[in-house]
Amino acid sequence: MATCASAPFDHAQADVILRSADGVEFRVFKLFLSLASPLFETLFGLPQAPDGATDQEMKDGLAVIAMSEDSKTLDSFLRFCYPSTLAEDPSLENLEDILSILAAARKYSLDLIERKVCQALANPKVLETEPIRCFAIAQNARLKHETITAARHTLRHPLVPAQFPEIGLITASELLALLTYHKNCGIAVQPLTKDLKWLTDHYVNQNACRWLLGPYYNGTCSCGQVTDNKFSLWGIQTVTWWATYMQELSELLMDRPSGDTVRTATDKTIQKVRSKNCGACSSSVKANMTEFSDLLALKVDEAVAPVCTLLYIRERF
Ligand SMILES: [Zn+2]
Repeated sequence: MATCASAPFDHAQADVILRSADGVEFRVFKLFLSLASPLFETLFGLPQAPDGATDQEMKDGLAVIAMSEDSKTLDSFLRFCYPSTLAEDPSLENLEDILSILAAARKYSLDLIERKVCQALANPKVLETEPIRCFAIAQNARLKHETITAARHTLRHPLVPAQFPEIGLITASELLALLTYHKNCGIAVQPLTKDLKWLTDHYVNQNACRWLLGPYYNGTCSCGQVTDNKFSLWGIQTVTWWATYMQELSELLMDRPSGDTVRTATDKTIQKVRSKNCGACSSSVKANMTEFSDLLALKVDEAVAPVCTLLYIRERF
């Protein structure tokens, strides 16, 4: 027994019925669907067969068209077709819905819906929390720009992802391409913590970054100076906590080569140094490290930017 869809797809004046694969009947207006899709326009424009000469199913005097989409997909899809005064565009924050709506949009040549799905995959909130799922959907749908954007957002997360529901949407080669891209980005940022020329170029001389040099410049600093030259600037050994930060960051960036990783590590260091109660560092660490971190985060994002172009391997056809 078929059930009737909810408003606005239950209108008494509707002129056609679309029945979903799971048996829900949507009473809709041909005009709205014809305006949204050339395929519907053709379908509804076909000449009517003379009475009795057709096996067209009828109900309440209206033609019933069987659709292959389920009611959830059909509901979202029809809301996009209807004028916004009658039905608001559905929210596409749920990634599970996106792929079926995209498939329907392509089947019925609904360019507008395809564009909206692309916008949903570019939603920063979804990209930040679920980049690998966006990547799999975009790659599967051959959306080049969205695939690259999602891949870039995976850099905020560890190289090897946890299991995710859409893993079956991509091939092993595509996953390998993503992992290779991620690893190459990790390699691309390593020089930033190995060779500090970018930093000495930025500060020009020691006076501009005394806070980094700890007790060497400030007798009230009780944090100590490192004894090796790994993170020295102009041959001067730096304050201990900063060298520790750089060492840890270097390892973190290999796994998560993103400006976001720099900001997170910086916040932790700021908390740590503040709690040390050093007369020289604790009060100034936030301002100094925030400026430093903004600069380094920018350098990291600049270093990974050229790697992106190597990513996309599956062409749309
Ligand atoms: Zn100090």
